[in-house]
Amino acid sequence: AAGTEALLKVEQALMQFGGLKALAGIDLSVKPGTIHGLIGPNGSGKSTMMNVLTGIYKPTAGSVTLAAAGSAAKRLDGRTPSEIALSGVARTFQNVQLFREMTALENVLVGLHHAFHGTIFDAILGTPRRKREEREARTRAMAILDFMGLASLAQVEARNLPYGKQRLLEIGRALALDPVLLLLDEPAAGLTAPDIADLTAIIRKIRDAGITVILIEHHMDVVMGLCDRVSVLDFGHKIAEGGAREVQADPKVIEAYLGA
Ligand code: ADP
Ligand code: MG
Repeated sequence: AAGTEALLKVEQALMQFGGLKALAGIDLSVKPGTIHGLIGPNGSGKSTMMNVLTGIYKPTAGSVTLAAAGSAAKRLDGRTPSEIALSGVARTFQNVQLFREMTALENVLVGLHHAFHGTIFDAILGTPRRKREEREARTRAMAILDFMGLASLAQVEARNLPYGKQRLLEIGRALALDPVLLLLDEPAAGLTAPDIADLTAIIRKIRDAGITVILIEHHMDVVMGLCDRVSVLDFGHKIAEGGAREVQADPKVIEAYLGA
């Protein structure tokens, strides 16, 4: 029935690096409108999964299918990162990757460039179309900064923002893609408690705005507070899946963490 269908379906994803199976045949099903946690000890394959989902790695075998509402299901595996981004899958990286010398506003504008189609002639000649698109882009970028609580920092260079704000700006830049699915790789890493509280509220706001989220996170309180469902990886295998509380109490999960 409508609404119960997965937005993202991963079937038997295998990612082999030489003799190492970073993903050893993983199935994953993410429901639309949810925050889906992806947890597991270091080296369990979480970032590799993100890289497979976003086309940075081409899986050795298996499929990734996106079923955005109203459009036909689309295979993502084998596509390039930019094709996948334009299909509505945006991400942030485990380490901050901003344009450090650009302002917060400019960083979001970079994320928006896909939405504006002026030609090189429009750009060189400064045509009315170009000027109109620039105005629209700035309005949208400011709306995103406002949503992220960063509007007052629009003109600050990324490198001069406090670390917690840099992490939020990265998420804002990803939102500029107007994604249906947002992948966050350890967004709370290195943040202070107040920053984590801000981040948590914003991730919830993003989900409530209708964007499905896959969240890789080590802070268990963040995972517990946010995730509708959690999948647990260990050595490239999915060892548990379910509600956050259910998974946290699973002996296999406890053992995987203690053994790490
Ligand atoms: P996690 O994000 O869960 O900490 P990763 O997905 O980064 O784990 O890594 C899973 C395993 O795959 C690790 O053993 C890691 O060393 C290996 N791995 C990841 N990327 C590569 C790569 N490009 N080449 C070789 N091995 C890799
Ligand atoms: Mg990782």
